[in-house]
Amino acid sequence: MYFYNLKHPQQQVSFEQAVKQGLGKDQGLFFPEQLPELDAKTLAKLGRHQRYHAILSGFLAETFSASDLAQMISEAFPFDVPLVEVGPHYALELFHGPTLAFKDFGARFMAQCLSRLSDGSPITILTATSGDTGAAVAHAFHGLKGVRVVVLYPKGKISRPQEQLFCTLGGNIETLAVEGSFDDCQALVKAAFDDEQLKKAIGLNSANSINISRLLAQVLYFWDMALAQPDLVVSVPSGNFGDLTAGLMAKAMGAPIKRFIAATNSNDTVPRYLKDGQWQPHDTVATLSNAMDVSRPNNWPRVEFLLNTFNWSLTAQPISEADTKASMKAMYSLDYLPEPHCAVAFKALMDNLHSGEKGAFLCTAHPAKFADSVAEILSIDLPLPKALSEAMSKQNLSKTIANDWQALRPVLLKNNG
Ligand SMILES: *Cc1c(COP(=O)(O)O)cnc(C)c1O
Repeated sequence: MYFYNLKHPQQQVSFEQAVKQGLGKDQGLFFPEQLPELDAKTLAKLGRHQRYHAILSGFLAETFSASDLAQMISEAFPFDVPLVEVGPHYALELFHGPTLAFKDFGARFMAQCLSRLSDGSPITILTATSGDTGAAVAHAFHGLKGVRVVVLYPKGKISRPQEQLFCTLGGNIETLAVEGSFDDCQALVKAAFDDEQLKKAIGLNSANSINISRLLAQVLYFWDMALAQPDLVVSVPSGNFGDLTAGLMAKAMGAPIKRFIAATNSNDTVPRYLKDGQWQPHDTVATLSNAMDVSRPNNWPRVEFLLNTFNWSLTAQPISEADTKASMKAMYSLDYLPEPHCAVAFKALMDNLHSGEKGAFLCTAHPAKFADSVAEILSIDLPLPKALSEAMSKQNLSKTIANDWQALRPVLLKNNG
C-alpha cells in the first residue's frame, strides 16, 4: 500500500514517509492508494481491538508486524467509545480519552506510529494549540523515548483547565506560553519549518490534523458506530474536516452508514461552497464551539475527492450561536449533558433528518472542557472529571517566551533530550 499526493498523484510515498513528512509537494495531502473493502458481518463478530486490527491491517500490514500493530492498538486506545441513546437518536461519545476530546484518538495512534518508525535520530514535535490539540499531543507523546514535544500556546488566552491539562506533564514535554495570539504561535511554527538547518538538526515534525496516521485512527470509531447501529445518518461537528474525512473513508470501506451531515458554526466556508460552488473563506470568527473556528479547513480536498469518487452528496449546515445555545437546552431536556460542539451537530441533525431515518451525532469533547459556557447556558454547576481536577492541583511548568523567532530558535536547538 502506498500513499499518494492528491495534488500530484505521481508523488507516491510509503506510510512511514507520509507520517514523517505530513504534507506532500505543494502542500498536497496524502491519501491511501486504495481503501480496503471489508465485510461488516465478519467485523461485527470481532472484539473491539481485534476489529481495529483487521481494519488497520489493510493499510499497514507492510509497515508493522501483526503483533506490533496489536500492541500499538492496545496502547493507543485503552478507553471506551460509548454509543448513548439521546431521545430517539444516538450520541457517539469520543471524549473518554486522557484529554477528554476526540483528538486523543489521532494523537495517540500517531505517537505509536512515530515512535516505532523512529530510526534513533531525534524527533521534535512542534505544535501550536488553541487548546485541545496541544493537550492530546502532549499526553500522547509523554514518556515516549526519542521524541521531544514543544507546545506553543497564546499566554492567557486558553482556559485554565485546558492549560493545566498539558503544562503540568514535564519530562519530554515542554510548554511555552507565547506573548501573542494563536496566529502568532502558528507563525512561529511556520518559521521553524522554513528553517532547513534547524529542521534537520532537531528532526522537526508537526503532528497536525492533516497527518494521515491521525485519520486512520479516526476511521475506527465510525466502524464501531456503524456495526452497533447500521444505516444511521451521522452529523459531524466540523472544523478542519478531519473527522468527516475519516467517516467518509469508513463508508467507502463498507461501513453501513446511510449518509453524512457536515455541521459547522458561523465559520461556514463549506456550506456556502456546497450551495454556490464558490470557495470564499471569510475571516475566522470566534464562537462557543471554538475548536471549530476554522475558515480554511485543511482536510477539505480529501472530502471533495471522496465525494467525487463515490458520487456522494453531502448535506452541510452552519449553526448560529443562538441556535447552538437553544440546541444545548434541547439536549439537556432530553437528559443529556451537552457542550457547544455536539450541540452544533445535534441541531444540524434535527434540521436535516428525513422521516423514517435514524440519526447519530458525534460528541467530540467532554462538557467539562467547556465548563464556563455550559454552566452559564444551562444554569447548572458542573463537577470537574478526575483527569481535570487532578491536573488543576499540579504545578504549571510552562516558560513564558516573547513572540519572536529569535527567542524561540535557541530554545528549540538546545539539546535537552
Ligand atoms: C478539533 C475539534 C472539532 C473539529 O474536528 P475536525 O476534524 O477538525 O473537523 C470538533 N470538536 C472538537 C471538540 C474538537 O476539538
